[in-house]
Amino acid sequence: MARSTPAERFAAKTSPGPVPAAPGTPDTPCLLWPETSLDRDGYGRFWVDGRVVPAHRWSYEQKRGPIPAGLELDHLCTVRRCVADDHLDPVDHRTNVLRSNGPSAVNARRTKCKAGHNLTDPANVHVSFPPSHPNGMRKCRACARDRARRTREPQLAPVATLPTRTTPERTAA
Ligand SMILES: [Zn+2]
Ligand SMILES: [Zn+2]
Repeated sequence: MARSTPAERFAAKTSPGPVPAAPGTPDTPCLLWPETSLDRDGYGRFWVDGRVVPAHRWSYEQKRGPIPAGLELDHLCTVRRCVADDHLDPVDHRTNVLRSNGPSAVNARRTKCKAGHNLTDPANVHVSFPPSHPNGMRKCRACARDRARRTREPQLAPVATLPTRTTPERTAA
């Protein structure tokens, strides 16, 4: 009896998942890798040709061809253990990070900042790449505006409460 091919072993590991719910995500169901074979970042691990490879990358290359050098596969569905090739998009690292901070990914994670502002509105979210956060930093613009207002107010306050000016009395010599 012939041994099963990598494609057969791969197919046997996967199971159909739900259609991702967050807005802006694909409208086809995920294809899920078992939770028991994930790496520490939550991506599927597949043993093939004597080594372990990321299951989603293997899946994509089987269906679509080689991933261009230096590119990462962005999970459009935001589900890391999904291996559906139509949920994967090859992008550079920066784009991957920007998208993971974008409206659909944010929707799937956190929809409000600590102060309760809307983080699903891209106009309210500022992403920067300072040296301390090479993977990108997300900031709420409404909070930044509030902070700026608070630091301005104490400086403005004295103007409104200036005492009425009194003419100093001259004393005759
Ligand atoms: Zn998916
Ligand atoms: Zn905020």
